[in-house]
This record gives sequence, C-alpha cells and structure tokens, in this order.
Amino acid sequence: MAKRILITGAAGFLGSHLCDRFIREGYQVIGMDNLITGDLKNIEHLMSHENFEFHHHDVTKFVHVAGKLDYILHFASPASPIDYLKIPIQTLKVGSVGTLHCLGLAKEKNARILIASTSEVYGDPLVHPQNEEYYGNVNAIGPRGVYDEAKRFQESITMAYHRFHGLETRIVRIFNTYGPRMRLNDGRVIPAFIGQALRGEDLTVFGDGSQTRSFCYVDDQVEGIYRLLLSDYSEPVNIGNPDEISILDFAKEIIKLTGTNQKIVFKELPQDDPLQRQPDISRAREILGWEPQVSREEGMKITYEYFKSMSASELEKREH
Ligand code: NAD
Ligand code: UDP
Repeated sequence: MAKRILITGAAGFLGSHLCDRFIREGYQVIGMDNLITGDLKNIEHLMSHENFEFHHHDVTKFVHVAGKLDYILHFASPASPIDYLKIPIQTLKVGSVGTLHCLGLAKEKNARILIASTSEVYGDPLVHPQNEEYYGNVNAIGPRGVYDEAKRFQESITMAYHRFHGLETRIVRIFNTYGPRMRLNDGRVIPAFIGQALRGEDLTVFGDGSQTRSFCYVDDQVEGIYRLLLSDYSEPVNIGNPDEISILDFAKEIIKLTGTNQKIVFKELPQDDPLQRQPDISRAREILGWEPQVSREEGMKITYEYFKSMSASELEKREH
C-alpha cells in the first residue's frame, strides 16, 4: 500500500518541489497551505493527479486529516525577511502553534515528522562555518527574532515530543536555497537581483556587500530532505551548499549571467542581517551520504531562465 504523506506549506517554493518529489516516488501526497505567501500555480500541475489532494487550511488552527498518515513534512512558514517582517505574529504562530498542531497530529497517527528549521537558528554566527553543535547568536527581540525564535521553539518542542512521547522526529536546518518557483518579489536576494536585472534597474546591495551567503540549488535541498526523512537520525542536520560568496561578488556574477550592464547601488544593511553564513555539512555527508551536486553556475542558469520566461506584467509586480 502506498505511503501517505502530509506536506504543509505545499504551495510554497520548497513545499511544491517536495510534493513533486514524493509524487514521483509513488507516495499519496496531501498538500496543505493557507496561501499566505504561497501560490496555487506552484502545484496546479498536481491538482488532477490521482495521488494528490490539496487542503486549503491554516495550520495555526487545529489540523485534522482523515485516514492513515505515515509521514508529515512541516514546511509552512513565511521564509523571506520581508515576508516575516510584514506578518510577524503569523510567523511566530506558525512556528509555534502550527508546529504543535503538526506534532499532535503525528502523535495521533503514529507518523514520522520532519520539520523545516533554518540556518537562522544560528543568528549572526560567531562560529564559522556553522556546525550543528553551535548554539547560535540570536537577538530575540530584534525584527528577525520573530522568525529565528519561532524556529528555535519549533526545534525545542520537536525534541520534547521525541524525548517525552517517543515520536519519530527529524529536523533539517536549511541554508539559503534557490531555484524555480521562488516568488520574484519575495525580497530574497536571488529573485531581487534577477528581477532588477530583467527590468533594467540598478542592483541593490545592502550594506557594503561583504556579508556572505552560501546558496543551495533546490534539487540538492530536496534530495537532502528526502534522505533525512528516511534516515533514523533525530538530531538536527544542516542541508546547504558550502560554496560561500559575498553579496557584492554575487551581484557581479548576476550582472555577468544576465549579460546586462546594470550598476550596483548600496542601500542600508537591515538590522541583524547575518554577516557570514556557511554550512558545515560533515554530518549530512556522514549520516546521509549527501552532498550538493549542482554548482552555483548551473543552478543560477536554470533559475535565470525560469524568471526570464515570465511575462512583462509579472515582472512589473512589486511588493514594496
Ligand atoms: P514559501 O513562502 O515559498 O513557502 C511557505 C509556504 O507556507 C507558503 O505557501 C505559505 O502560504 C505557507 N504557509 C505559511 N503560513 C501558513 C499557515 N499558517 N498555514 C498553512 N500554510 C502556511 O517559503 P519556502 O522558501 O518554500 O520555505 C518553506 C520552509 O522552509 C519554511 O518553513 C522556511 O522557514 C524553511 N526554510 C526555507 C529556506 C529557503 O532558503 N528557501 C531556508 C531556511 C528555511
Ligand atoms: N540583500 C541585498 N540586496 C537585496 C536583497 C538582499 O544585498 O536586494 C542581501 C541581504 O541583506 C542579505 C543577503 O542579501 O545579506 C541574503 O538575503 P536574503 O533575504 O536572500 O536571505 P537571508 O538574509 O535570509 O539569508
């Protein structure tokens, strides 16, 4: 009998790619989303699939699914800084109350649950690269605290369910991931720069651009999550690509990739913006036999093609 999996945040960027993967693997997939930052377009190709059903639901309200469930992937949460700064309370609620509901459902169904945590649990890290032993450097009351602390609470309550109820739990700490189906106007640096290049605007680098990030292509991320779910490992695991680059150098790469002649302009660095970020993936290598396969050059080409195929009116839509 086919395994049945609930994926929250299914209409979002990562959630929709996970739906695709589990459908491909022969699972029955229930996608759940309240569409607060997601888009049904990301899963419209699955709507008529016999193994897919969509539940329009807010996971901060009681979560119920009829029938058996083998697995839950809890991915519902705003993920981009401008999203979670705009909807701070919902961000805190989905990471706390929403996670509580998903854990309760997992317990009721005796299902294994994997929760989507983040490199943001390390805050503005004082240890570099970041391994899973590092406790982090988070400003709880700063503007990003609504996301970071929600995710830290999420990890904490997940481990409590694991230790106290013996629930099978998995925690993935996701580092900046990109690819097709990101929202062009979600404010994250990759869609922001590509959108600016396509519209012929200057590229906005925040601060002096010396802050670093390490970008992971979505297919690699999905593979890591898939392996972690099926592993027997309940401690957190970093999944990301260690190939680190400064934001200024990255802006220059985008100008080269898009063949545009855009200028770079410097804007104020947002408060608590982490100065450096690079995953130590030794644990993922050892436990999951996983490491990224897609170079930034390859992944960015695919992502650029995706955004380039958008219509002029889609490109013009702005959030702020
Ligand atoms: P996204 O915004 O594209 O997707 C999130 C989805 O969750 C959206 O479809 C949204 O509508 C849905 N959602 C939000 N609140 C909800 C609620 N209360 N009830 C039901 N659905 C709700 O973001 P993403 O990049 O796909 O991120 C998915 C998950 O991965 C998030 O938990 C995020 O914290 C985590 N993550 C992502 C990254 C990344 O680089 N993409 C990095 C670290 C962590
Ligand atoms: N950034 C930037 N210009 C933009 C958008 C983002 O310089 O138009 C910077 C941002 O300040 C951060 C980095 O790019 O240092 C990555 O930002 P993103 O929002 O993608 O992710 P996060 O900060 O959550 O890693």
